[in-house]
Amino acid sequence: MKIVTVIGARPQFIKAAVVSQELRKKHTEVLVHTGQHFDYNMSGQFFEELDIPEPDYNLGISGGSHAAMTGKMMMGVEEVLLKEKPDWLLLYGDTNSTLAAALAAAKLYIPICHVEAGARTHCMTNPEEINRVCTDHVSALLLASTQSGMKEMEIEGLADRACLVGDPMYDAFIRYSRKKTLEEIEFKTLEGSTVKVPAEYYYLTCHREENTKDDKDLTEIFTAMERLDAPTVYPVHPRNKLRAMRLRKEQGFQNLILTEPVGYLESICLVNHAKKIVTDSGGLQREAFFAGKKCVTILDFVCWPETMVGNRNTLAAPKADDIQEKLAEEQTIEEGYQPFGDGHAGEKIVQKLEEF
Ligand code: UDP
Repeated sequence: MKIVTVIGARPQFIKAAVVSQELRKKHTEVLVHTGQHFDYNMSGQFFEELDIPEPDYNLGISGGSHAAMTGKMMMGVEEVLLKEKPDWLLLYGDTNSTLAAALAAAKLYIPICHVEAGARTHCMTNPEEINRVCTDHVSALLLASTQSGMKEMEIEGLADRACLVGDPMYDAFIRYSRKKTLEEIEFKTLEGSTVKVPAEYYYLTCHREENTKDDKDLTEIFTAMERLDAPTVYPVHPRNKLRAMRLRKEQGFQNLILTEPVGYLESICLVNHAKKIVTDSGGLQREAFFAGKKCVTILDFVCWPETMVGNRNTLAAPKADDIQEKLAEEQTIEEGYQPFGDGHAGEKIVQKLEEF
C-alpha cells in the first residue's frame, strides 16, 4: 500500500516515529511535514533523535490565524494527495495539520486513518477538540488509544469504524525512556547560559491557548511553582517565551529555571526523575502516568480520564493556591493498571490498515 502521513507538531513526530518504522517494513510511506512546528528544537531535533525519515514534502506553513493556517495547509495537502494518489491518509492527534489534511482527503474520497481517535474533552472552546471531532467524523478507520475513546465513539455513532489499538505514545515512552540519563542533560536557559538538572525538581510544561493568552494565568502558575520546596524546570514553548521571561523578571521569581524546549529523550528523562509534574499538555499527562509521577493538570476539562484514578492526575484552576493544594494530594497507584495498551500500538495500527 501507499500511505501518505501528514504530521506537523511535536507530539505527532513522536507517534509517527513509532508507526513509520513499522509501516515501512512492508509499505510505501510518503511523509508530509506541514511546517506547523518549525524551530530546530520543536521539529528537526525530533527527526534526528527518533530516526524519523526526512519528510518527502515540507509545506512550510506555520503561524497566522487558525483559519489562515488550516486553509493554507488544506491547499498544500490537496496538491500532494492529487499527485501521490495514496491508498490511505494517516493522521495523528488533534492539531490544525490533522484537521486540514482530513478535510482535504475527505473531499478527494481518500480513506483516512485517524490515530488517537475518540479522545474527547467535551469542551468546544478548546481548539484541539474541534479538530478531533471533525477529523473523526470524516475518517474511515478510527484507532483509539484507550477504552474511553471507544466509548466516546460509540456515543457519536462511530463504533462500526472504531478499533482499540493502544497508545503509540506509550510505545515510544517504553522504547526511548532509557536512552538518556539525567547526568547527560544540559539545558540552554532562555538567558543563554547552560545549566545541569538540579538534584530535585518539579517539571512544568504550559503552552495551551487557555493558559497563555494573558499575564494573569501564567503569573498564578509561576507563583505556585515559586512556593515549592525544589526548583521547577520549565522548557518554554516558543508561543510563551517573551511573556515568561518578562513575568519572571517583573515578579522576581527565583525558583524557576526557564529553558528552551528540550528534545523528547530529555523530556521523558525529566518526567521519569521529577518530584511531580504540572502541565497543560495531553502528552505530558500520559507520560507522568506511565512514569508513576503525580500530575496536576491546569485545564478545566479532562483529556485522558484513565489517568485521573487514585489522584494520579488532578485538574487545577490557574490559581496558585489551587495548584499548590492539588500538588500536595497523595496519589495511589494500583498495581498492574495499564489502560494505554501493551506497548505494541505501532504494530497494531499497521495491522488494522492491512486488514481494512
Ligand atoms: N516535550 C518535549 N520537549 C519539551 C516539552 C515537551 O519533547 O520541551 C514532549 C513531551 O514529553 C511530550 C510531547 O512533547 O511527549 C507533548 O507535546 P505537546 O505538549 O507539545 O503537545 P500535546 O501533547 O499537548 O498535544
